[in-house]
Amino acid sequence: MAEEFGFEVRATLPNGVGRAGVVHTPHGDIATPAFVAVGTQATVKGVLPQTIADCGAQAVLANAYHLYLQPGPDVVDEAGGVGAFMNWPGPTFTDSGGFQVLSLGAGFKKVLAMDTEGLTCDDVIAEGKQRLARVDDDGVTFVSHLDGSKHRFTPEVSMGIQHQLGADVMFAFDECTTLMNTRPYQEASLKRTQAWAVRCLREHQALTTARADKPYQALFGVVQGAQYEDLRRKAARDLAGLEVEGRRFDGFGIGGALEKENLGTIVGWATDELPDDKPRHLLGISEPDDLFTAIENGADTFDCVKPSREARNARVYTLDGPFNIHNAAHKRDFRPIDAECDCQVCAHYTRAYLHHLFKAKELLFNTLATIHNERFILRLVDAIRASIADGSFDELRRDFLGRYYATRRLPRQPGEDRPGGGDKRAG
Ligand SMILES: [Zn+2]
Repeated sequence: MAEEFGFEVRATLPNGVGRAGVVHTPHGDIATPAFVAVGTQATVKGVLPQTIADCGAQAVLANAYHLYLQPGPDVVDEAGGVGAFMNWPGPTFTDSGGFQVLSLGAGFKKVLAMDTEGLTCDDVIAEGKQRLARVDDDGVTFVSHLDGSKHRFTPEVSMGIQHQLGADVMFAFDECTTLMNTRPYQEASLKRTQAWAVRCLREHQALTTARADKPYQALFGVVQGAQYEDLRRKAARDLAGLEVEGRRFDGFGIGGALEKENLGTIVGWATDELPDDKPRHLLGISEPDDLFTAIENGADTFDCVKPSREARNARVYTLDGPFNIHNAAHKRDFRPIDAECDCQVCAHYTRAYLHHLFKAKELLFNTLATIHNERFILRLVDAIRASIADGSFDELRRDFLGRYYATRRLPRQPGEDRPGGGDKRAG
């Protein structure tokens, strides 16, 4: 089957880095920048695929670790791939499982979530806990979070699983480090990840040939290197130049430990080194200020569990910032979640009803809250994409973030005019 993957840039920001474009996949196009909805277990929890499409999602990302453990990648393969299995006809992504084997598998999820204050040593990862995942130069041995059974992922295993899952975009197997890993550990880890990238490309090439009757699956190399400029730049450069048996990466992921304050800088280092004609996916972001920052610095697609996970925890988004619907103040609040939202939930349901559903532990709560939050983020990214084309990116960012964070401290936006001000204030 023909290789139908590609990327075109359609418009760029005045900085020459941020861009809008189109990713072409065998299952359809993705207009970028794009937020990819997360369907970890081949489902966006509680929401029908058609509904998530109606929310504006163009692609869904499932997880290799979860689908490997349950139902098994062979089952998904037999179903015709993850899209066919879950009845999602559009583009799909799978992540490599690298992050999950080292977070769920090792039980230090909280640490990977950047709860790193005061932690400096590599070994502290396992402090007070049995270490459930072990990394060596060949791969990762880990224990299933479901039943305690022992498993091993290598670059070849991850590629085999992801080919069976059949997503349009796959990611190379990488080691995801944390911010508290020391510099020597980050260096050693990066060497390992880069060696794994070579093995992933080689295995990908073999599997692409062996499964030539299947739609082409693109493979993205993942740029690690934590907060170190030299490591990030080298990682990006090496991956961009890598060619194994005539095959190169189709795009790039930017992964690993990122501090919010350095997000734009780190994405900028990577995109500076990466080719302009291939798409870049930033793993795991959805905060509005992060989206603007990442897009400005050249990221094209993103995914994050946060909009749906927070929805299930009763945290819903509005143009005036997020709030908790379980708060008693909403018991008789007959307004929609966000009067300016165009989603089906805001059209037909009230805060009081959602408050009731949450208190009553009704399953419909998860569905409604998730639809709203997903639509909120998807609509924001739609607006950002349009603003790149029509030159209003800075204005949109100022207006949107100014309002969204008005009740909190406004995040620093480098080079941005403050609302109502304009000129930098003289000291
Ligand atoms: Zn809504």
